[in-house]
Order: sequence, then structure tokens, then C-alpha cells
Amino acid sequence: MALIVQKYGGTSVANADRIRNVARRVARYQALGHQVVVVVSAMSGETNRLLALAQEIMPEPDPRELDQMISTGEQVTIALTAMALMDLGLKAKSYTGAQVSITTDDAYTKARIMNIDEARIRADLDAGYVVVVAGFQGVDPDGNITTLGRGGSDTTGVALAAALKADECQIYTDVDGVYTTDPRIVPEARRLKSITFEEMLEMASQGSKVLQIRSVEFAGKYKVKLRVLSSFEEEGDGTLITFEEEDNMEQPIISGIAFNRDEAKITVLGVPDRPGIAYQILGPVADANIDVDMIIQNVSADGSTDFTFTVNKTELSKTMAILKDKVQKHIGAREITGDDKIAKVSVVGVGMRSHVGIASQMFRVLAEEGINIQMISTSEIKISVGIEEKYLELAVRVLHKAFQLDQAN
Ligand code: ADP
Ligand code: ASP
Ligand code: MG
Repeated sequence: MALIVQKYGGTSVANADRIRNVARRVARYQALGHQVVVVVSAMSGETNRLLALAQEIMPEPDPRELDQMISTGEQVTIALTAMALMDLGLKAKSYTGAQVSITTDDAYTKARIMNIDEARIRADLDAGYVVVVAGFQGVDPDGNITTLGRGGSDTTGVALAAALKADECQIYTDVDGVYTTDPRIVPEARRLKSITFEEMLEMASQGSKVLQIRSVEFAGKYKVKLRVLSSFEEEGDGTLITFEEEDNMEQPIISGIAFNRDEAKITVLGVPDRPGIAYQILGPVADANIDVDMIIQNVSADGSTDFTFTVNKTELSKTMAILKDKVQKHIGAREITGDDKIAKVSVVGVGMRSHVGIASQMFRVLAEEGINIQMISTSEIKISVGIEEKYLELAVRVLHKAFQLDQAN
């Protein structure tokens, strides 16, 4: 007997038929003697619908009230899923995040899970129940409802699997695994049988939304056996996230290509080139809990330079306001500009550690298509470039082909 956590995303619970389909799969697992915890997202489109509604009332909605509201999508699907299970004759019980004490910090809309009291779930499982838990939500130490950031139900699933020491966490979605790149953009993309944890972490942090980044971090920290599968297919092994690098000479150098349209670029022009400037610019941004991704600063010829960095698009106006308010005059910068028509493309692979020339190959392929690179950042296993958004799909396609990711190996 195994304990399995199954997480179903929005498209997998989009209507009554699909919820019944989820219930049938859960019933099959229980019939095999397994204990099953189910985590569900809101019905697809529901979180977006609620967000738009809030914005109609208040252009920059209050974060506490926003979480209070967008957490309701999952409250609907947990109850419907429990009903579908009961309808099949199973014992089932649904819980919100607060009811099973998924405690988070108080960072509304992007809270981090701090603790899960798994005793209640375990007692129900031992009494023969299927336990259905709302994804994406938690409760802060003062009892306020919080949410975990878009795609956060993945993190609920993996965190529950970690807390319960589950044998496996299965992420059911609308694709049958992790692909070399988003199959919606490149139809030739191939499913990977496995991907190393480090590569998955890079893919997720560079924009592959198939798994929320924090879910991968949790899987790494607690060594959760994590698999991505299709909820629309009966068979299939999906993609396993592995912790060992395969000792395989044939392993491709590049495993996948990720991309991200969610970033915006900010340039602070005419910055004096002296110690402490980066801190003076980015300190107030960090104090406002805004994540910064790529950063570039040029050397100066005349003592003055430009400082460029990227933030999430949703935080562009807030960041610009902070800079204009608190930084520009203080450091004597000439001007601050924002650009939200950028995109980031990244090639990812552990094979990069032992191979040179990947960056130059990437730059050559982009140059041949006339795509200008605005920013570059690298880690041991990835190279990212910032480009004009209109070239994104072209860039992903040509890189996918150039690195032969469309070919079976
Ligand atoms: P869910 O609602 O089930 O959480 P998501 O939309 O969050 O589903 O994630 C699944 C989607 O992720 C797929 O439909 C696919 O378009 C996209 N995706 C992006 N990159 C990849 C990738 N490398 N492999 C598979 N899917 C990817
Ligand atoms: N419903 C939330 C969202 O749309 C969480 C999730 O689906 O994982 O982002
Ligand atoms: Mg998702």
C-alpha cells in the first residue's frame, strides 16, 4: 500500500465530466489499496475571472482582499470533487487550506508555506477516506487567508506529499509530461521520460509553467518523488523528476528550452559609476518585496553609466514609482524608462557543465534570424537572453531545431 498525492490542474477539473473523470482515477488507485490525497486547482479560467472582477472594482486590488477572493475558486472544486467521489461510493472529505493548517507567511498573493499539520489528513486516510485539499491557498499565523502565487496548487501538492512522506506526488495536467519546450509553441517538442531536478528547477524558474518553481524547490528539499502526467490519458508514465544525473554518455547537452513573457525591463539612465549605486537602486526595490531577475550595468567611459534590470510585468509600474520617488533624485540619475515588450529565452541542460560553445551556438542561431540580444545571463546549466517580445516564438523554434531537440536520442 502506498500513499499517493495527486494534484489536478484547472483544465482537469474544468467541468462536471472532467471532475467525474478525476474521481474515477482516484477510485482506481484506492481500489489497488493505495491511500490517496487529492489536491485540486480552481476550474480553468476561474482565477483569471476573479482577478478581472477585482480589477474592475479597484485597479490595484488590496492584496489581503484579493487573496480572500481568489482562494474561493479552489473551495468550489474541492467540494465538487468530494461529491464526485461519494457518488462513486467512496468515502471522501474536502478541506480548505486553513482547515488542514497549511500555514504560510503573510506575503499575500505570493505566500510561502511554513508548516502543514498533517495529523487530520492522516487520521482521515486511516479511516478510509480520500482527502481532497484546496490547492493554492493557506492561512497566515493571524488567520488571514493567503495564496501561493499563480500555479501554486502544484506547490500545495508537493508540500503535502513532503509533509505526509508520500510515496509519490503525481501532477496531472493537460500535457502528458514535461516536454523539450512548450508543445503549444513548438509542435515538434518531445516528451522527456525523465529530467533532473536541477534542470526542472531551471526550466520552471525560466518560465516553463508546467510546474510552479516552488513546487520543484520543495521536491528537491524533501526528496519527493515527483511525476508529471496527463489527466486525459489512462496510460503513460509521464515525466519523472530524478535526483541522480544519469550516467549516460548519450545524454543530450541541452534538455529543454524555456521562455518567459512575464518580465519587463527597467533602465536607469545616467547613473554615476561609483560604489554603492547598485545597492541604492535595488535596495528599495527589494524592500518592497519585488523580485529582480536579470541585471546589467556597463562600464563607464565618463563616470556615468546605465543600469538595467528586469522585474515581473505586474510589478513594472510599482517599481518605476519607487525609483522615481526614492531613487532618481537621490543618486542623480537622468531618466528612468520601462519596457514591457521583452521576453526571455533560456536553453537548459546539465550537459553544459562539460561542454563549451553552447552560448556561441545560441548567439549565432539568433543572429542568423536577425534577432537582437538585449541582455544575457548564465548559470552553470542555463543561458538566458532577453529579446524583443515579437521574436519570441521564432527564437524558441529555431533554437529547438538547432539543438536537435526535435530528434529522438
Ligand atoms: P495546470 O492547469 O494543470 O496546472 P498549466 O497550464 O499550469 O496546467 O501547465 C501545463 C501547460 O504548461 C501545458 O499545457 C503547456 O502548454 C505548458 N508548458 C510550458 N512549458 C512546458 C514544457 N516544457 N513541457 C510541458 N508543458 C509545458
Ligand atoms: N488557480 C490558481 C491559478 O490559476 C492556482 C493553480 O491553478 O495552481 O493560478
Ligand atoms: Mg499549473
